[in-house]
Amino acid sequence: MDSEEREVAGVTVRIDRLLCVGFETCIEVAPDLFELDDEGIAVFCADTNGTPHEDVLGSCKSCPVDALEVHDTSGRKLVP
Ligand code: SF4
Repeated sequence: MDSEEREVAGVTVRIDRLLCVGFETCIEVAPDLFELDDEGIAVFCADTNGTPHEDVLGSCKSCPVDALEVHDTSGRKLVP
């Protein structure tokens, strides 16, 4: 699949798997939110309920290629 989307900590997070190059900086910031699959591309961890809001934003902002988008409940883009 080219992208994956999930509600986490009150926001919508979208992984653009075509942009991701597996740098893992998102995983360093939020190891309970993202992991790499066997292709070396980011996916959501199985259970992302424990990730705090600030870690979601910090992790997504850390992506060097803007593969992680965050929108709030009204559809406003928070990241990148
Ligand atoms: S930081 Fe960006 S490029 Fe790196 S693994 Fe995460 S989504 Fe992929």
